[in-house]
Amino acid sequence: MIHDCETCHMQPGSDTARAEGCTCATMDNGRGHNRVRLVIRLDCPVHADGLTPRDET
Ligand SMILES: [Zn+2]
Ligand SMILES: [Zn+2]
Repeated sequence: MIHDCETCHMQPGSDTARAEGCTCATMDNGRGHNRVRLVIRLDCPVHADGLTPRDET
């Protein structure tokens, strides 16, 4: 059963985001409920768009 609510919907580490391929830290993000400090992996296909720290063209 995927947990989904307004607070964590598609947030890093949430069930809904992970179902879309999110690889961000689940526990560090409180399963998407930690709004204070978001931990986003740079290789996450869902949240890392635009976060690339260096040009790799
Ligand atoms: Zn929730
Ligand atoms: Zn993510």
